[in-house]
Amino acid sequence: LEPLPHKAPVGCLPDGSFSRYAGCDRFSQLPVSKKTKDGLIDCKFKTMTDIQRASLPHSLCGRDILGAAKTGSGKTLAFVIPVLEKLYKARWGDEDGVGCIIMSPTRELAGQLFDVLKSVGKHHGFSAGLLIGGRKDVDTEKEHVNSLNILVCTPGRLLQHMDETPNFDCSQLQVLVLDEADRILDVGFKRELNAIISQLPKHRQTLLFSATQTKSVQDLARLSLKDPEYLGVHEES
Ligand code: ADP
Ligand code: MG
Repeated sequence: LEPLPHKAPVGCLPDGSFSRYAGCDRFSQLPVSKKTKDGLIDCKFKTMTDIQRASLPHSLCGRDILGAAKTGSGKTLAFVIPVLEKLYKARWGDEDGVGCIIMSPTRELAGQLFDVLKSVGKHHGFSAGLLIGGRKDVDTEKEHVNSLNILVCTPGRLLQHMDETPNFDCSQLQVLVLDEADRILDVGFKRELNAIISQLPKHRQTLLFSATQTKSVQDLARLSLKDPEYLGVHEES
């Protein structure tokens, strides 16, 4: 594998200055809204994990991220927090429609991250929906999908809405999250992902997280990220 571009040391901002938040250990030190801080406190999250500490100074200032860290390292909060902050800063509301799409490889993982989003985001007023197929009635979903602010979905179900739901509108999308990207590709969603990404507005922030760095993750990164910060957090050996 060719090495990923590592553009700047951790904590370096696009203008070359060093983020004053780079050395922070606790969520309370981050430049985030009181609503998000209260959600984190309610969930008893205090100290950041390595991938959170490395990525949040960048993602919170709007940059694209390719974050690689093993399973269990806390990647979910590394994207849930910047998603909430992006929509909060944009004063996103009911009328604004879909502002964020979070893609997950399986129904189970989508459900888990949806629960984290709901509990950490509970002081914000955003609406969120879990679009994962299975037994859920797609026709009822089609009536509501445009009124949701945050969509948590598996690629198959999202593509179904893009293809079938009249007036499905994600033209105002602010953030795209590709969670567990290596697994999304492993389970054979490459075609769906490419089709989805090609239909999304190009002006957006994209956060891509993966447990492993594979050739196909790098291909996906090239397709979906703009000038990304690469953050690989690996165990000391
Ligand atoms: P990953 O997606 O990298 O596999 P998760 O985001 O699912 O990891 O987090 C793994 C576990 O660690 C979860 O139980 C989560 O609640 C917990 N966790 C995540 N971040 C923190 C934190 N900053 N402090 C304490 N526990 C955390
Ligand atoms: Mg995860």
